[in-house]
Amino acid sequence: GAGLAEITKQVDSVCPYCGVGCQLTWNVGPDGQGGERIHTVTGRDGPANHGRLCVKGRYGFDYIHNARRLTTPLVRREGARKDPADIEAVKSGAKRLDELFREATWEEALELAANGFSRIRDAAGPGFESPLAGFGSAKGSNEEAYLFQKLVRQVFRSSHVDHCTRLCHASSVAALLEGIGSGAVSNPVADVAQAEVIFLIGANPAVNHPVAASFIKNAVDAGATLIIADPRRQQLSRRAKWHLQFRPDTDVALLNGMLHVVIHEGLADEGFIAARVNGFEQLKASVAEATPERMAEICGIPAETIREVARSFARARSAMILWGMGVSQHVYGTDNARALIALALTTGQIGRPGTGLHPLRGQNNVQGASDAGLIPMMLPNYQRVSEAAVRAQFEALWGGNIDARPGMTVVEIMHAAHEGRIRGLFVEGENPAMSDPDLNFARQALAELQHLVVQDIFATETALLADVVLPASAQPEKWGTYTNTDRLIQIGRPAVTPPGLAMQDLWVIEQIGRRLGADWSYWHAEDGDGQRAAEAPVARVYEEMRAVMAPLAGVPWSRLLREEAVVTPAPAEDEPGQSVVFIDSFPTSDGCATLVPTQFRPGVERVDADYPFVLTTGRVLEHWHTGAMTRHASMLDAISPEALVSLHPLDAVGLGVADGAMVRLETHHGGVVARASISDQVQRGQLFLPFAFWEAAANTLTGDALDAVAKIPGFKVTAARLLPV
Ligand code: SF4
Repeated sequence: GAGLAEITKQVDSVCPYCGVGCQLTWNVGPDGQGGERIHTVTGRDGPANHGRLCVKGRYGFDYIHNARRLTTPLVRREGARKDPADIEAVKSGAKRLDELFREATWEEALELAANGFSRIRDAAGPGFESPLAGFGSAKGSNEEAYLFQKLVRQVFRSSHVDHCTRLCHASSVAALLEGIGSGAVSNPVADVAQAEVIFLIGANPAVNHPVAASFIKNAVDAGATLIIADPRRQQLSRRAKWHLQFRPDTDVALLNGMLHVVIHEGLADEGFIAARVNGFEQLKASVAEATPERMAEICGIPAETIREVARSFARARSAMILWGMGVSQHVYGTDNARALIALALTTGQIGRPGTGLHPLRGQNNVQGASDAGLIPMMLPNYQRVSEAAVRAQFEALWGGNIDARPGMTVVEIMHAAHEGRIRGLFVEGENPAMSDPDLNFARQALAELQHLVVQDIFATETALLADVVLPASAQPEKWGTYTNTDRLIQIGRPAVTPPGLAMQDLWVIEQIGRRLGADWSYWHAEDGDGQRAAEAPVARVYEEMRAVMAPLAGVPWSRLLREEAVVTPAPAEDEPGQSVVFIDSFPTSDGCATLVPTQFRPGVERVDADYPFVLTTGRVLEHWHTGAMTRHASMLDAISPEALVSLHPLDAVGLGVADGAMVRLETHHGGVVARASISDQVQRGQLFLPFAFWEAAANTLTGDALDAVAKIPGFKVTAARLLPV
């Protein structure tokens, strides 16, 4: 980077990576070639970070200047067959991108993209289940998410719109909506400072939400008791009073054991339950047999320890639960979240500062993208597409008819593509050819689509299977709002211009919509040609979205510009938003929460003599999701250049595998080769592999069995074997 003397412009914005939502300043200067580039990043005193940034936020920005950025529209060459094998060929350099695609003008590419969709849509006719689908992005802005789902619903005439929330917290949201009437967090991360006990389960924030982890560390240093429950140990374990290293996939057993103790030792908050909770007697009956001794046999945590942590949690003046994908990414992920919600409700640990339920949201805008309706069964603000009155409201606003049938979810769409029921797919800023389970199948299904359009900033694995590739803008190149894990809506500002012919995402979505017959005019002539980062069209979309989303009622665009960050719900313009909710009641028909009893059930992936290990997938500190951004960030990729599979020292001895040796991982679904990393963070019999590396694509190994309620795959548990190479 350049010295500070070369900085000519400073732009205040938000970090493009995780759901913590750190505010930062892009320090911009000359790029030496007549343009501008971001040279350094500094943390701002935002509500979620107070000046702090992690390695991704501080050093991960130069992906936007990477020479591999898409700078011109691409269309598939005539005769260039869509072949999943091309992914590895192009990524490894064995094949050139221009062997598959030729450059095109925007006019030609947009026409081809739109015509492909209109041919499929119009051939299906009205009344049939739509053969078109769309995956929007949790990395894009709220405005992009809103306009994208509007494109699919109003213009594609389809409800098949989803995004990566399906792969991360869909089960948490399903359980929260069912139990307490709201899918968002009840308290912000910063509330850990007021918690006497912090219960962190299935999450590794030091890796995935590092600035949030720093506040947890501060809280423990100030006297809070930290309980961690996770099959893997982690950096924060050193600060924990208890690290419950339970057997993978036994969350419900551990939590039901704790609930049994709470109820049978008189630790339940009877006043809170009587006033605000339904279903206590059913829950009590359901955990009557879940004694700590019985649950200990399943989860592997000693009965006395289950008792101690249950007492600690229930007796605390304030106890807060934070969880991550270790809870949600299971075929019984909804049950896991139900049991956690039950723990908070039976102990009355919700509705006050320092208490509550906080599913740590992964991507920078996964909360906002879900709020904005990028999910197949909900219109914006979680209004059900199946309800006639809801549809009527949106039909009056948008025109046309909205399909009353809830759409298919991410993995279901892949199966429908393979079966020919989905024939056209628009992927904006997501990478299912890396993020979906059972990648060999998913890539084949993508290749079988009649028409695949990908809008992205790099030629992702998914883009390599596309018919048309549209070069988009990176987050520091555009205006937009982003909603963090705390329900804090923040404004992102452009620091630099997109490279080459790359365009603003919102402009591209509008162009596709207009070519398919939509009467949209968010982009006015004075806003430019779609490359310039114009504020006005984003504000127009935001204000339309605000009109149908009650939590944003008190947050006009002008307020966001003025205050930069407003916590939602914010019903009135002259009042601060509500950072702690459910103080007096829950947003349900009777104002009460409902307990949903669960029973432990073994998962679908079972270890046996052939596949004796449990493989868990996840992230590493330096890399973000499928690596589309961070693998192109020079410093991050230099620090963490390859996939490492973690295995326990005793397993390594048993298999004769040395630290750093190459090993082959195999499951019922596929195989990869990766470098072994001997680590006592995993248990004996457990393996861990990050999913950001195309060279050892972890989801080649995972299966696509789904949670029946939330349709989330069980990424955290796959039966596997490991062989020395
Ligand atoms: Fe960005 Fe998350 Fe790191 Fe903050 S904690 S700097 S939001 S990646």
